[in-house]
Amino acid sequence: MLYLDNAATTKVHKRVVEKMIQYLDFNYGNANSRFYKLAVDSRGAVEEARGNIAKLLNCSPESIIFTSGSTESNNFVLKSLYFDNKLKHIITSRVEHSSIIETCKFLEEKNVKVTYLNVNKEGVIEIEELKSKITRETSLVTLMLVNNEVGSINPVYEISQICKDKGILFHIDATQAIGKMVIDLSKLNCDYMSLSSHKIYGPKGVGALYKRNTLQLLTPLIHGGEQENGERGGTLATHQIVGFGEASKICSEDLEKNIKKLENDERKLIDKLKFEFNNDIEIVNNFKNKIPGIVSVRFKGINNEVFLKAVSEKICASTGAACSNSNPSHVLQALGYSLDQIREVVRFSISAYDDYNEFDELS
Ligand code: PMP
Repeated sequence: MLYLDNAATTKVHKRVVEKMIQYLDFNYGNANSRFYKLAVDSRGAVEEARGNIAKLLNCSPESIIFTSGSTESNNFVLKSLYFDNKLKHIITSRVEHSSIIETCKFLEEKNVKVTYLNVNKEGVIEIEELKSKITRETSLVTLMLVNNEVGSINPVYEISQICKDKGILFHIDATQAIGKMVIDLSKLNCDYMSLSSHKIYGPKGVGALYKRNTLQLLTPLIHGGEQENGERGGTLATHQIVGFGEASKICSEDLEKNIKKLENDERKLIDKLKFEFNNDIEIVNNFKNKIPGIVSVRFKGINNEVFLKAVSEKICASTGAACSNSNPSHVLQALGYSLDQIREVVRFSISAYDDYNEFDELS
């Protein structure tokens, strides 16, 4: 079977599973307890994981707050800034993940102004449009680094400089970027960054929010105990965190190799699809500015749901984001596709660890 839905989620790496089992079966102490070895070991493992995530991003471990994933991290930043009366005007884009779009819609009901930027043919925002929408009230720019449906990369280094010059906070949703490109937070002027473990061969239900060290504490989205400096309550899910940490460590070790493998497989997949469908397909992605591993294909005259159901015994792929699967893709709409055309698009997303040979299942 070909599993080609890695943008939705990835298979957990074997090394990650082994490490997690240790913290389910043996080292099951509460990382916030004290006095005995089981708890001290858990605390040590949580801090080691934090260090591994920080290393992957080249930032300090203290700037990492564990969450349940990017949906929570995205909600956390936006709602926390709102609670602190820091949000008057947000700039985001029309192609963000639902956890940003829906949170923005919620905040609009609370009288926060939101501007949704368009994207160009490459699927990225235009710097000039961003500049023209900044007002004296703009307090936050929130944008994804990599789009989850077409893999396009936003010019975040340039954007971060603009935000810095204007004194505007900048949040980046990097969920789809980690593991597929280098991210160096020492060179990027970003204030907050959302991350998720299950896109990098780690477990589901754990992620992180990076918060630049010099910023004040965030008002918690989840009030509770003293965990995570009091910024995020709840007993730390040690096994999940340890899994995320191990996945990040593997990600750092394998990054260069994985990028090459994804590029290579992506080329093979496109060639195979072109061969099998007599060139009667359109590749939706723009390759000028894109991470490797996500290929969105329009099969002309073929309904994507009918197609995916018909091949489901052999191939796992999707019509777009798994989180908002029942609606026609807002990303493809923003790229100018009609509803009829969107119903012909299938997203294939490749794993850095599966061996696909020549994609024979597509024959
Ligand atoms: N942002 C983007 C760009 C995503 O692709 C996803 C996951 N599909 C999320 C946020 C939400 O991440 P999580 O599943 O960790 O809540």
